[in-house]
Amino acid sequence: MRLDKRWWLLVVLAGLLALFFGFDLGRFLSLAAIKSSQADLQAWRAAQPLLAAALFFVGYVAVTALSLPGAVVMTLAAGALFGLGWGTLIVSFASSLGATLAFLTARWLLGGWVQSRFGDRLATLNAGIAKDGGFYLFTLRLVPAIPFFVINLAMGVTALRTWTFYWVSQLGMLPGTLVYVNAGTQLARIESLSGIVSPGVLGSLVLLGVFPLITRKFIEMFQSRKVYARFKQPKTFDRNLIVIGGGSAGLVTAYIAAAIKAKVTLVERHAMGGDCLNTGCVPSKALIRSAKFLSHVQRAREFGVRSASAEFDFGEVMERVQRIIKAIEPHDSVERYTGLGVEVAQGTARIVSPWQVEITHHDGRVEPLSTRAIVIAAGARPFVPPIPGLEAVEVLTSDNVWQLRQRPERLVVLGGGPIGSELTQTFARLGSRVTQVEMAPRILLREDPEVSDLVTARFRAEGIAVLVDHKAERVEVIAGEKQLVAMHQGQEVRIPFDAILVAVGRVANLKGYGLEELGVATGRTVEVNGYLQTNFPNIYAAGDVAGPYQFTHTAAHQAWYAAVNALFDPFKKFRADYRVIPWATFVEPEVARVGLNELEAQEKKIPYEVTVYGLDDLDRAIADGEAHGFVKVLTVPGKDRILGVTIAGEHAGDLLAEYVLAMKHGIGLNKILGTIHTYPTLAEANKYVAGNWKRAHAPQALLAWVERFHAWRRG
Ligand SMILES: Cc1cc2nc3c(=O)[nH]c(=O)nc-3n(C[C@H](O)[C@H](O)[C@H](O)COP(=O)(O)OP(=O)(O)OC[C@H]3O[C@@H](n4cnc5c(N)ncnc54)[C@H](O)[C@@H]3O)c2cc1C
Repeated sequence: MRLDKRWWLLVVLAGLLALFFGFDLGRFLSLAAIKSSQADLQAWRAAQPLLAAALFFVGYVAVTALSLPGAVVMTLAAGALFGLGWGTLIVSFASSLGATLAFLTARWLLGGWVQSRFGDRLATLNAGIAKDGGFYLFTLRLVPAIPFFVINLAMGVTALRTWTFYWVSQLGMLPGTLVYVNAGTQLARIESLSGIVSPGVLGSLVLLGVFPLITRKFIEMFQSRKVYARFKQPKTFDRNLIVIGGGSAGLVTAYIAAAIKAKVTLVERHAMGGDCLNTGCVPSKALIRSAKFLSHVQRAREFGVRSASAEFDFGEVMERVQRIIKAIEPHDSVERYTGLGVEVAQGTARIVSPWQVEITHHDGRVEPLSTRAIVIAAGARPFVPPIPGLEAVEVLTSDNVWQLRQRPERLVVLGGGPIGSELTQTFARLGSRVTQVEMAPRILLREDPEVSDLVTARFRAEGIAVLVDHKAERVEVIAGEKQLVAMHQGQEVRIPFDAILVAVGRVANLKGYGLEELGVATGRTVEVNGYLQTNFPNIYAAGDVAGPYQFTHTAAHQAWYAAVNALFDPFKKFRADYRVIPWATFVEPEVARVGLNELEAQEKKIPYEVTVYGLDDLDRAIADGEAHGFVKVLTVPGKDRILGVTIAGEHAGDLLAEYVLAMKHGIGLNKILGTIHTYPTLAEANKYVAGNWKRAHAPQALLAWVERFHAWRRG
């Protein structure tokens, strides 16, 4: 067996520690030993000062680097041998160097493992260390509550930079070093280690340690208070909470607030349910259903049906979409929310002060309301890029495409993301000749390349022209014909069309309701901290307007935090947990993901193993005529802990649920393998991929012995 370098270091370290403890070398580093040999040591130092200093320095580095007990006694000895000045200098550098070596050893031996094992859970700590690491370390160094060797080792597995660790350690340990070296100059008078530092000195060190943290807290408090300086806070409030926007985020925020008995007003200027119900998830999935039915008719022969045809009217299909919206509408209606205890205002909200919202009702009435907290849930809208000539043609987006009643014969879809891809396939199946134009080298760019390949191949097989690496330059109308001009490998490509649908991303709604006037910090979205607070701590944001995810389920997830934090801060608040976030793109084959894919793992330098199960092998998928796609699981090397899953295939979004639960609750592939899955279902794929993983990790050496055992039993 070959040992890698880490193991060698571990063996050497274990050997040195065994030597130290086995021969009880610690006895030379006791207070009594130093005191009894003080005279000899001093004589030696007087005879060979440089050698004595050098050897002492090396010894001190070794003790701290190996985390051996004895550093305190050595610090006292430094005072006795070299005096306050030289003693402090030697100990200060030796202790910092030794601590840094211990820090690096911990990082080298365990850092990678800890980060890959607990990387997602350490993300917040790492972010804190990146922002505040120096402060924390400084405090820990000054306040001698935790032994220094523990700090050295613990900091080694965080993302703290080595140089920061070194200089903060040196600075932070300096006061303590001075105190102990100084005490060492009077070594003869010291009777025990515990009495060296008086309570007064200890108290001063503690104060010195917490001072930077307290200062920082004050600065933060001051900065957050400063934003309120221009405004007069009302003495009482009409509401506990006002929620701006009645989409996924706003509805859930208001519902939670009402459920916990707060007085809450939800303001919606357009349609209750927001994007998801009216122009997003619901209409798109309803239209996808009709398109899927038509695709099955087209595939009739595959199912043993000699011929099948479907006569349909595009307008009627689009009317069905509206019927589906109507059917779901009651879930998000004013009546339902009023019944749940939410006051619903149909009108436009405008924030006029951190505690004041003005509602312009649809009937023209203007109602000013004071509130203790506000949640901004104003959503996002399609981004239409400034492509020359686009303004001259009617542009379809996910906002207005649902009003179409005439099928566009030639449709250009600009954008290869989830929304663009879903609508591309849907319109193609409904009979449009669709050209999908994407400037990146592949569609569904966030997913692993084989996912894009699979979907692209399916799109092309269905007659869609997928043009990747094509950058839209301008739109021209030549002799009444509309054309998109795109650049591809330095050449102009002209794509004639009857309608163009732009789906290149969505931008947060940030303007027109008081954010700029108030000074709420915004970038591409409303800027929020981990608690979803804006720079005005009583104003929160959730959903698409806050990002970074733009899904209904993440909007609802954030809503819980926004509602609870808005109502209970400063007594208690919760940091939004983004560890396990699933999503799906409802093209065929469906694509679903939770956690890392290979692209992200490589980008974040997280080690992983890949296990794949091909759905072409699955009984149910074969029976259904859907034997294509795969389940791909990333795990921690050598372990069954799931880092991420990508599924491409029929009902991928539903199949993913098992992994979402597993990742959320730390369930590994072994447990999935040990769970009975109903036969014949698509969900069995999850068990089979776990089986593939298990086979790849079978204990070969043990199996060889078991084989011998069976041979022996056969006689
Ligand atoms: C075509 C399409 C398909 C999608 N498919 C999916 C999917 O399958 N799964 C998924 O999870 N997500 C999907 N999404 C995304 C999903 O729709 C959004 O992430 C979700 O709707 C965001 O909810 P929200 O509450 O943040 O914003 P919105 O739903 O946009 O709600 C914001 C509301 O605020 C109101 N508002 C704004 N300003 C004011 C004001 N000043 N006063 C009063 N009211 C105001 C608006 O009228 C709007 O109703 C899709 C989106 C699109 C466009």
